[in-house]
Amino acid sequence: MESVKQSTQSLVEKDKEHVWHHMAQYKPGSSPMIASEAKGSWITDHDGNRYLDGMSGLWCVNVGYGREELAQAAFEQMKQMAYVPMTQSHEPAIHLAEKINDLLEEDYMIFYSNSGSDANEVAFKIARQYHHQNGDPSRHKIISRYRAYHGNSFGALSATGQSLRKYKYEPLSSGFIHVSPPDNYRKPSGQSIEEYNIQCAKEIEDKIIWEQKETIAGIIMEPLITGGGVFIPHPVYMKKVEEICKRHGVLLIIDEVICGFGRTGKMFGHMHFDIKPDIITMAKGLTSAYLPLSVTAVRKDIYEKFTQDGENNHFRHVNTFGGNPAACAVALKNIEILENENLVSRSAILGDRLQEGLVELTNHPYVGDLRSLGFLIGIELVEDKNTKQPADAERVNRIIKGCKANGLIVGKNGDTVAGYNNILTLSPPLSCTDDDLGFIIAVIKKVFKENE
Ligand code: PMP
Repeated sequence: MESVKQSTQSLVEKDKEHVWHHMAQYKPGSSPMIASEAKGSWITDHDGNRYLDGMSGLWCVNVGYGREELAQAAFEQMKQMAYVPMTQSHEPAIHLAEKINDLLEEDYMIFYSNSGSDANEVAFKIARQYHHQNGDPSRHKIISRYRAYHGNSFGALSATGQSLRKYKYEPLSSGFIHVSPPDNYRKPSGQSIEEYNIQCAKEIEDKIIWEQKETIAGIIMEPLITGGGVFIPHPVYMKKVEEICKRHGVLLIIDEVICGFGRTGKMFGHMHFDIKPDIITMAKGLTSAYLPLSVTAVRKDIYEKFTQDGENNHFRHVNTFGGNPAACAVALKNIEILENENLVSRSAILGDRLQEGLVELTNHPYVGDLRSLGFLIGIELVEDKNTKQPADAERVNRIIKGCKANGLIVGKNGDTVAGYNNILTLSPPLSCTDDDLGFIIAVIKKVFKENE
């Protein structure tokens, strides 16, 4: 045991010396978790401590860890043919595009990239070029929502509605404007949820009109805001947004980077709302993060504009790694697992049971709201239930630390404006066993009890 400890210590020292962590600073006295192994829903660190990964990494390991079929699929494909750029094609890319199209409700063309940010950049460029080639070259602006996260690159970050992530990198890309999402927990009193959600959609229409609709290319939104704090709209909102987009010739881009591949209890999050997106972006659960891959799915009638004769009418965009054959093979196998093991319907069942198991938390003095769709839950902490003042960072961090000390990793909403870092998130693997679920519920209840 002593030697393991020493080797962990030396890894930590080297890590401190060489590895620049994402979204973090080394704090004196703290050490990063050096993860060594993972199976099912569980991660084991270098000292042998086990943690249930209540966040599936970064909302991505949908089929759970340790799937040998996925390793095998990558191995076989790499042996046969490691690489072909997507200026050409190959079998896994073709089969995967056909499969994704089968999962969707309309006909889409599939454009491959590497990450969720990439997929969203592609969506913005396609939206702008589409309007250009449709005789509306001034349509360039993209509307998105405060609190949402759409990625780290300049365009995707410009669409992101979280100021702390942005202000030190400004100026960002021009032509990105924001509206508020529905926040049903904080809706004005005296308004029904439906009325409030219609009003939020109306804010989008007002924005389109005030900005001049001839300048608006598209709107991007997740089916529900996930990392920004789990904001689930009433269905009337999404229908209204779709109608407004149609009325004003604005493309509806749905970001399924987290919500896709079963997370919300349906294969894609937008399927809860009976809408037909023009463009859909996907990543994370597409391969359950076993290899990097993302997709921008573009409805066939939009794609047609890129097939017109003319010198520069094709989509002038390329990336080196997108559509990597092994990544496509892994994605195909990953979707097969989701289907064979009924993990999408399991996500809905697990989500209901998690919500039920935690419902008594709403009596806790600091729990303002508990909301979920499928196996994705947000617990909003407040200082005062009457004023709904967001909980202090310290209170939120105590719960996160308490969960970790008891072997459970939970997340919290991304860094929004100061004072709104108060929403705990859970998004465990869809392959969670009944025992895993029981463990999650027991730990959370215990930690909240200790923090009354
Ligand atoms: N869109 C959403 C909704 C996301 O949550 C994320 C990542 N958390 C992204 C886009 C960007 O994905 P990536 O980190 O793969 O670039």
